[in-house]
Amino acid sequence: MKGIIARFKANLFFALPVNRYIVNILKHRLFSGLYIPQVIQLEVTNYCNAKCILCPYTKITRPKGYMPWHIFEKIINECSQFEKGRGLKLILHKDGEPLMDPLLFKRIDYIKEKLKKSTVHFNTNAMLLNEDKAINILNSPLDSITFSVDGTSKETYEKIREGLKYDAVVKNINNFFNKKKELNKKIHITMQMVLNKDNMHEIGKYKKLWGDKADRIFIKNAHNFLVQKTSFHGGVLGEKQLSRCMQTFNLMLFYWNGDVALCCWDYDNLVGLGNIEKDSLLGIYNNDKFNKVRNAMKNKNCKDIVPCNICSQIYGKDGRQWA
Ligand code: SF4
Ligand code: SF4
Repeated sequence: MKGIIARFKANLFFALPVNRYIVNILKHRLFSGLYIPQVIQLEVTNYCNAKCILCPYTKITRPKGYMPWHIFEKIINECSQFEKGRGLKLILHKDGEPLMDPLLFKRIDYIKEKLKKSTVHFNTNAMLLNEDKAINILNSPLDSITFSVDGTSKETYEKIREGLKYDAVVKNINNFFNKKKELNKKIHITMQMVLNKDNMHEIGKYKKLWGDKADRIFIKNAHNFLVQKTSFHGGVLGEKQLSRCMQTFNLMLFYWNGDVALCCWDYDNLVGLGNIEKDSLLGIYNNDKFNKVRNAMKNKNCKDIVPCNICSQIYGKDGRQWA
């Protein structure tokens, strides 16, 4: 029973922005005719200390960098115009490791100062989560954090998460849990495992290892990261679109240089939706290119939409990504 209640609470924590977006989308469509993002994802940097095989990181051809402060400030200031009374979810990672960003804590403070109702979150591989960083995070207003650890053994983990050290990562995370308890902090912690054929056998052990410590265990299937016709689980994607992807209806994602991505799988600016230095946030979010994808999604007809037409989220069995 205790487990069921804990799971319900953990799911609620993450589901709220998703539920709210339905009401907000309807409200704004009715009154202003605009789409308003509920989740704002910022690539604070696309530098990373790893080369995980389940990530498109090594395929990225766009330049590397850290999000300049003036770009970050413009995005957050524009969010403050439509955040009131509802709260947004701010996510501070994309194709990179946020703990490498020297401005990370300044950004979290700024978001909390400007967007009083919003929550802030990021995912990290925890390799750089030393004592100082752990204390800085725990003393910051960050609401939630996800530790991405795709295995329970050195052999499995280091095969998938190339460049990282299993023992060091586990030590850092355990230290974080201990410090959280010691400092009596409330930050919500998720342990995330992305599945492929190499780590499936460790699911049970994963739940046992982290189940009593984390607020949530999140296990999901790997995405095909937009490699045509392939499924990470060895299958071939079908021709038929099986579902609608909601990312373009509730998410707005900025690369570090202010360009706007289609979704979290658009790792190389494949669509070119606009740049926040040249246009307003809502101007880009409601432009013809964005709406073309939304209309295709509504009609379950993405065969001419790049890159949705090769995405395992809507074609093939990987579409049900959440395990
Ligand atoms: S740590 Fe994250 S961003 Fe870096 S390569 Fe791995 S999955 Fe990609
Ligand atoms: S279908 Fe795939 S590529 Fe298209 S918006 Fe959704 S996640 Fe991105």
